[in-house]
Amino acid sequence: MDVCFLWYNVFGEIMQNIYGMTRPKLEEYFLSIGEKKFKALQVFEWLYEHKNAQVDSWSNIKKEVRDQIKKDFSFAMPKIVKQERDTLTRKFLFMLEDENYVEAVLMYHDYGNSVCVSSQVGCNMGCAFCESGRLKKVRDLKAYEIVSQILLIEEEVQERISSVVIMGIGEPLDNFLNVMDFIHIINDAKGLAIGIRHITLSTSGIIPKIKELQNMDLQINLAVSLHAPNDEIRNKIMKVNKVYSISKLIDAIKEYIQHTNRRVTIEYVMLKEINDSEACALELAKLLHGMNIYVNLIPYNETNHIEFKKSEEKVIKKFCEVLKQNGINVTIRKEFGSKISAACGQLRSKEVER
Ligand code: SAH
Ligand code: SF4
Repeated sequence: MDVCFLWYNVFGEIMQNIYGMTRPKLEEYFLSIGEKKFKALQVFEWLYEHKNAQVDSWSNIKKEVRDQIKKDFSFAMPKIVKQERDTLTRKFLFMLEDENYVEAVLMYHDYGNSVCVSSQVGCNMGCAFCESGRLKKVRDLKAYEIVSQILLIEEEVQERISSVVIMGIGEPLDNFLNVMDFIHIINDAKGLAIGIRHITLSTSGIIPKIKELQNMDLQINLAVSLHAPNDEIRNKIMKVNKVYSISKLIDAIKEYIQHTNRRVTIEYVMLKEINDSEACALELAKLLHGMNIYVNLIPYNETNHIEFKKSEEKVIKKFCEVLKQNGINVTIRKEFGSKISAACGQLRSKEVER
């Protein structure tokens, strides 16, 4: 189904979902109905501090305004329909109002709980190794559908989420406006109050959107999925490289670093005999030389449908060593949840293809 589910108010107008409203947008709304803009602050306190969506109980807002709010906004949320868990991870499958599915993963770290959220239903970037890309994009998620993933997980586990990575299903920069609203809502001190430096956005490298992001002067962490040291390999595994080649992408990352003064993460998924040789490591070190980056080597999560294999552990360690010896900051990502189909899109694809 590719029709987005919409709520209509009594006048047949499309209703916005309240959880997709940033505070400035809500302030504009209150001004438009002749109310003071600080009402937006009160609504945020009810929704995110008191976790109370029963509008009739919002005692500091008069009845007439409460009735208007009920007419103008939907409060509907996706539903958690499935969970998988192991010691350090819990994975949630959400059914959206139009019966599409997305997933999010909760990870327990020493420093707190983080959630990896989805930004689209499927993905059109078509990376050869990725389950989300295999199923193609059905639609973008609305801001409230991304916010809801965190709200529902917090409610389910009764614990606070202190950091967020936008690394689930979808290419966040292909859903720019909704993702920006999402970031503003979760970062708002009266929203979910998640520190801006605790929010990471991962992109396959859509250069014009990286520039747009750069101009917004947000202090989020940017992660770029590079996955190859040259165009020959990258063209084979990431279609996006045919439009935005490695040299242009590296220039865009350099410009981003210079403009924002922030270190960028380079993601590199280790695929057996594709991009994991010592020669690749040397070429990568040369490519990234002198940049304010660090490399995150990702052990590949094999899927049933895709032929790629994960690199052997000793190969990953050697690759890591070569980068280090050549002056590159590098870490190997902990294999979170490979047993519970935690890689991008795997739980959803199981559900969709049942
Ligand atoms: N679309 C964005 C964000 C979502 S994918 C992007 O591509 O960056 C998040 C990360 O997971 C990307 O680095 C992606 O390459 C990686 N990934 C996808 N499938 C994977 C798999 N099966 N195993 C390990 N990493 C995977
Ligand atoms: Fe999309 Fe990211 Fe998967 Fe590529 S790796 S298909 S960009 S979700």
